[in-house]
Amino acid sequence: MPDRSDAHHAVWLSGEFVAAEGRGELSIAYQPIVELATSRVVGAEALLRWTHATSGAVSPDTFIGFAEPEGLLSGPGAFALQTALDDLASWRANSRAARDLFVSVNVSPTQLDSPGLVTDLKQAVDQRGMAQRDLHLELTETAPPPGPGAVQALHDLHSHGFHIAIDDFGTGYSSLLRVQNLPCDSLKIDRAFTAGLPDDTACRAIVASSLALAHGMSLGTVAEGIETVEQRNHLHQAGCDLGQGYLFGRPVDAATFRATHLD
Ligand code: C2E
Ligand code: MG
Ligand code: MG
Repeated sequence: MPDRSDAHHAVWLSGEFVAAEGRGELSIAYQPIVELATSRVVGAEALLRWTHATSGAVSPDTFIGFAEPEGLLSGPGAFALQTALDDLASWRANSRAARDLFVSVNVSPTQLDSPGLVTDLKQAVDQRGMAQRDLHLELTETAPPPGPGAVQALHDLHSHGFHIAIDDFGTGYSSLLRVQNLPCDSLKIDRAFTAGLPDDTACRAIVASSLALAHGMSLGTVAEGIETVEQRNHLHQAGCDLGQGYLFGRPVDAATFRATHLD
């Protein structure tokens, strides 16, 4: 149970978060997603960052943790989508290596419920001369299950050619049901399972069965949280297509991403 001061701090922090976008305190960091066979960078995950004027950097686990259930992610979520598309357009204009790159953006179920989302996203990629498949939308397993409106939006997005990824696969209590019921193109294996590779028997079994499930449903696979060469080798040999983690690069700002991964 939080004491009074913790509760007071939480209320204060969520009020500050509401004002964060207007104050220019939000930004996006990008982490490379690589092809495990070649280590070529094929994508970038956009990760929201909040640097509060006096408290400094607030961890996403903290602010997403309260903003998602309180329904405060519509504005910041739209900011993440627009910024990621703008940065992809700018990378493509300046670097041949970005020609086939995709950006992957986390979306919360409440964001999917907003009217006009599908039309807005289609317009946003068209205006920048991109294809729908250049934008991957990550739906986390730990967020509340999407309601009927959000599920319909996912079907619309999928039928328009946007790539849908199930994030943190295996951590939600309804993982298999979601894969059965939601349109999706790829599974992202949670870093909790990568962390136990290659030695932990349970992690090896969970990863192997997640990959078998994905392959059986013709879905792409991305492993999160790869920190060692042994983890990378194990995942590659087990048939995982793509990977992400500190071994390949930490999340960095758009200019550093370009200089480090695209030049
Ligand atoms: P996620 O989408 O699963 O993102 C991956 C998280 O793992 C990131 O944490 C990343 O920094 C971290 N990570 C990547 N590689 C490694 C590694 O090798 N080792 C370890 N220990 N960690 C690694 P981050 O940036 O703190 O984000 C946390 C979560 O916040 C994200 O998890 C995502 O669920 C959520 N999030 C971030 N940005 C957004 C957003 O724009 N919208 C929504 N709805 N959620 C977001
Ligand atoms: Mg993600
Ligand atoms: Mg994840």
